[in-house]
Amino acid sequence: MNPFDAFKMQGHEQLVLGQDPGCGYFGIIAIHDTTLGPALGGTRVWQYASTADAVTDALRLAKGMTYKSAVAGLNLGGGKAVIIADPHRPDREALFRAHGRLVHSLAGRYITAADVGTSPMDMEHVRQETPHAAGLLGQSGDPSPVTGFGVYCAMKASAKEAWGSDSLAGKTVAVQGVGKVAHGLMTLLRRDGAKLLVADIDAEKTAKAAAEFGATIVDTVAITTAACDIFSPNALGATIDDAFLAGLRAPVICGGANNQLAEPRHGDELARRGIVYAPDYVANGGGVINIYGELNGWPESRARQKASEIYDTTTRVFAIARRDGVPTYVAADRLAEERLAVVRGLRRMAVPSDRR
Ligand code: NAD
Repeated sequence: MNPFDAFKMQGHEQLVLGQDPGCGYFGIIAIHDTTLGPALGGTRVWQYASTADAVTDALRLAKGMTYKSAVAGLNLGGGKAVIIADPHRPDREALFRAHGRLVHSLAGRYITAADVGTSPMDMEHVRQETPHAAGLLGQSGDPSPVTGFGVYCAMKASAKEAWGSDSLAGKTVAVQGVGKVAHGLMTLLRRDGAKLLVADIDAEKTAKAAAEFGATIVDTVAITTAACDIFSPNALGATIDDAFLAGLRAPVICGGANNQLAEPRHGDELARRGIVYAPDYVANGGGVINIYGELNGWPESRARQKASEIYDTTTRVFAIARRDGVPTYVAADRLAEERLAVVRGLRRMAVPSDRR
């Protein structure tokens, strides 16, 4: 679809392009919805095939952030930035200072953070030009432990839905991708007495998981068909596709990866088979909660407290799925849309300073 049609159809508020040819900067900021608060979302650096592809990606990701923050109960809207460049480019100061200027031109309507191809160090350059950057060095730090904790909470709620008890003791969890998020998750699963099967394209990481958590190493194809109670995708997106569904043996799926469904119909198929699926952006909301905590000066304990609400949110998603007879990924969208509608519909009480 033409990105301008996508902009209209998906109901975005604003789309901004900026360039600074002197330093080779070309950036896109998409703001989807600011009903709940300023739009927050990371900046992705990627060598897109075309400007249209980059705009389409920014629009899709920005909308996703609206939904993620809405179900996480945060007062944040959804936005995302994309810079078309080589993510490994060495001259980063000029690139990210130029980006900071574009972010600043939005006067706080958009707050940025690190994403694929960017690091907290890059955000320090952005911060030279605008206060509207989060995930900075020495602040809330790496969000992965809080994300892993949130996935654990969603997994317990999923276990309750599947088996009537949220205990993970004795359950076998197949963990696909044992990076930063999975590490936090596995620490808690091990503590609870779960058995771990792990797979990663990086053999060093699986060896580490075996040594640290007593996990059994499985190859990256076999993990998707392993006999287990819970399959936990924590690598890249689009894991749940036709081939995956053909071999799946787990009755529960819950993990931290973004965009786990290759297509919506794969989520429909999970529901048709009665598989308990904790929607990705509900389960992995701990990362954005951690950044929200930084913006509001919270101690880490408060961010964890907020992330623990992911248990109840996941339970509510399952209840909406039952109420409306829809797959859980649709139920999650409905939960987000219901909150947005409530806040949008609040009665306005004018005070003189509101006059523009
Ligand atoms: P990471 O890079 O630390 O870990 C990902 C791991 O997956 C790596 O070890 C990588 O080698 C492995 N991997 C890649 N392809 C694989 C494959 N085909 N099979 C098996 N393993 C494979 O990243 P992370 O920060 O742990 O993030 C994991 C996922 O969670 C990503 O999808 C990310 O977008 C999502 N996420 C992360 C956070 C966060 O706070 N870090 C927040 C929300 C969502």
